Amino acid sequence: GIPAVVTTVLAISVASLARNQAIIRKMESVETLGAATCILTDKTGTLTKNEMTVTDIYTPLRSITVKESVFDEDGNVVAVVEDTNIKWLLYCAILCNDARITEEEKVIGDPTETCLLGVAIKAGIDVEAVRKEYQRIHEIPFTSETKRMIVVVRDTGGTTHVITKGAAESVALLVDGDTAHGKSIAEMLSANGTRNLMYASKVVKGKQFLWNENEVLQNQEYVGTIGCKDPLRPEVKDAVLLASKAGIRTVMITGDHKLIAQNIATELGIVKESKEVMDGTDLASVSDQELDQYVKNVNAFSRVSPEQKLNIVQAAQRNGEVVIVTGDGVNDAPAIKTADIGVAMGITGTDVAKEAADMVLRDDNYSTIVKAIEQGRGIFGNFIKFLKYQISCNLSGVLIVLPISVATGTTPLFPVHILLLNLISETGPSIALGLEKPDRDIMNAKPRRKNERLLHKKRWARIIFEAIVLAGAGILAYFIAYDNNPATATTAVLVTAFLSRLWHSFTSRSENRSVFSSKIERNNIMYYTVIGTLVILLLAVYTSIGNEVIKTVALPLELLMMCTVVSLLPLGVMEVYKLIRSKNIFLGSGVEGNA
Ligand code: ADP
Ligand code: MG
Repeated sequence: GIPAVVTTVLAISVASLARNQAIIRKMESVETLGAATCILTDKTGTLTKNEMTVTDIYTPLRSITVKESVFDEDGNVVAVVEDTNIKWLLYCAILCNDARITEEEKVIGDPTETCLLGVAIKAGIDVEAVRKEYQRIHEIPFTSETKRMIVVVRDTGGTTHVITKGAAESVALLVDGDTAHGKSIAEMLSANGTRNLMYASKVVKGKQFLWNENEVLQNQEYVGTIGCKDPLRPEVKDAVLLASKAGIRTVMITGDHKLIAQNIATELGIVKESKEVMDGTDLASVSDQELDQYVKNVNAFSRVSPEQKLNIVQAAQRNGEVVIVTGDGVNDAPAIKTADIGVAMGITGTDVAKEAADMVLRDDNYSTIVKAIEQGRGIFGNFIKFLKYQISCNLSGVLIVLPISVATGTTPLFPVHILLLNLISETGPSIALGLEKPDRDIMNAKPRRKNERLLHKKRWARIIFEAIVLAGAGILAYFIAYDNNPATATTAVLVTAFLSRLWHSFTSRSENRSVFSSKIERNNIMYYTVIGTLVILLLAVYTSIGNEVIKTVALPLELLMMCTVVSLLPLGVMEVYKLIRSKNIFLGSGVEGNA
């Protein structure tokens, strides 16, 4: 029955993970989830909502806090477009931008870009008209390595413009002249948790445009900076805390500015002190050994390139962590592949990232990872429950048949009885055990060691103990019923073994807690399967077809009562055993022992 149960339980568990927004692409990850010790998570979209709105607009001459002075009551940007500097900044926001407006007037694209296009629309600029006036003739897309995007446009007058937008440091490299002002604005906004983009542009001399990267890109002029806010996902803070109680570290890895990383990580409780934040630029020249040390203590990495992300994953693994890493871009694929569990974003993720991933988050949400870990731990625990259950039941069968056959030369069970016990009495309860809800305090425990076996020595000892107790009940029933004819005795053994296995499924729900403990979560499937299975037993014993096919005889009532009472003995023994263990009477070890 075990392969059937394993397959059923895994399939149902994976479906339930998917209902909770976590799609498992590789089955083994369900097992690894429960052993995870470290989550390396993206910021934008995973910890934040990825719903950006522009809050600040800066040009070299003017600064505007959008909510204070720019929007009128209807939310439109006023008195801005007359300022030529701001007008050109908003043109740049339209032109150096891949977001589109659909026929239904919806703005679609990367959330950073849609919010930048949105502010230009609110300022009353006709986006389509501007894009017609300035045709794009060349582009260098944004990547998380370069952290900037460049377009070359030609206006209707035949003039060619280069427009750059991106992280302040990256754009400043292409700007001619003083960039201190632009950089200080970037720092100020970042410290505030405001994501920001610097714009620069230049006019290319000459009517003929020739693509020459160095010449065309250099010597641009600072146009301005736009800042936008991305609200935090409200559920993340609690999830970070839950993970930390469960012995799982959360480390933020972002391409954004160090001060934004610090601001947001502090807000979410990921970082407590500023020394736990480290910038990618400081990682450039460190050795593997140094990196290993940093990765032990740093909880937020900023301005990280995809290659550095991979290095961080490897360093954490060298430190013995079981690593979950998230990613969305094509460049994240190596880190996703290397991690113990690579996670791709379902909404913003590229196909390449999803292809490389073990798990895909349908909602892009960090807290879904923590929920999946909880479920993963529960599933692992359930596997232990039903394996222990099945093996102890099967072993008890051997321990009934062998001694009685050897001692008396008669068989206490026919093959068809053994089949009935194996296939019918155990399968339903096993599946029910496999589908138990995670233990209430499963997230108060430390992660399981990665190479911990499902069944270690202590568990085997417990299995053997339980098998002996179960077998004892069967043997007892055999000798009590032996006075009657042998056929009645075998049926009595069948009924006792069958019933004791059903009751044993309740015992197997917890290693340490009483069957009657209120701390055990309700499991209706358990009750249904036990009732269904009981009906089959009654049909097997009390119908003429059952008597014929299963080779049983209808037991007289007093024998049925006897079998029922005897079948309850193992449950009683196991209850006493749990009580003794929890009271520490003889064993001295704690309740926490896992046998
Ligand atoms: P994360 O996803 O970790 O927040 P990103 O890699 O998306 O970080 O962004 C890193 C930096 O690159 C941002 O701080 C921003 O300045 C810049 N940036 C982000 N998106 C774009 C874009 N579409 N075009 C140009 N620059 C961008
Ligand atoms: Mg991003």
